[in-house]
Order: sequence, then C-alpha cells, then structure tokens
Amino acid sequence: MAEVTREQLYAYLDESLDEIEEARIEKLVRSSAELREALSKVREERDRGEHSLGAVWRRERLSCLSREHLGSYLHGVLDEDFHAYVEFHLKTIACSCCLANIEDLREKQSEQTSQSKRRKRYFETSARLLNDARK
Ligand SMILES: [Zn+2]
Repeated sequence: MAEVTREQLYAYLDESLDEIEEARIEKLVRSSAELREALSKVREERDRGEHSLGAVWRRERLSCLSREHLGSYLHGVLDEDFHAYVEFHLKTIACSCCLANIEDLREKQSEQTSQSKRRKRYFETSARLLNDARK
C-alpha cells in the first residue's frame, strides 16, 4: 500500500477527496486485496469511533491545542504523530491563538531556566565563600 496512506483512506471514506484522487484510490482498492483489507480496517476504526489522537485530529483537523500539549511540544516529549500535528497547526495553519500561547509558554520556560541558573550560581558562590571562611 505504498501509494495510498491511511489518511487518504480516511479521506476516501469521508468522501473528502477530489474526484481524480477518489477515482485513483477506488481503482487501486479494486485491484489490491491488501488495500481492501487496509480500507476495511480503517472503516472499522472509524466506526468504532477510534479515540486515538490521530483519529481525533483527522476528524477535527483544526482543533486547537491545550497549553499542556503545547508545553509538551516545547519539551519535545510528544509522540511523532502528535508532534507532527502541532507543527502543522502552528506552522501551516499558523493558528494565532496557539502561537500566542506557545510564545507565552516559551517566555515562562526561559524565565524558569534563568531563575534556576541564578539559583545555581548563588549556591556555588555561597559554597565558595564557606570554603574560603574555613581556610
Ligand atoms: Zn490553535
């Protein structure tokens, strides 16, 4: 199924493809047992109302991200699908609401970083002073 992605199969089932693409996939599905199986799997997933994040996003392509998710994105701890979606949402859709949120989070994050750096410096200085006093 090199020529058809799961996303395309979803779109095919949702009838959200253009005519040419739809005809192409229909033809491929007819000629490939593998693809027919993939399609029925996708259909099952869809009918079950699959709850995976990927599925939710495919349904609600434009939904916004929570600050929690944006924070995880900044920390680089999201799984690949989720990360790709956030990138898409921020860079391709350029959602101003989420961009403002992430900007805010980024500021807070760097504030935190410089705060802990300051704290570390402070401890190092006190340790040194203490050492000097003992000499
Ligand atoms: Zn958004």
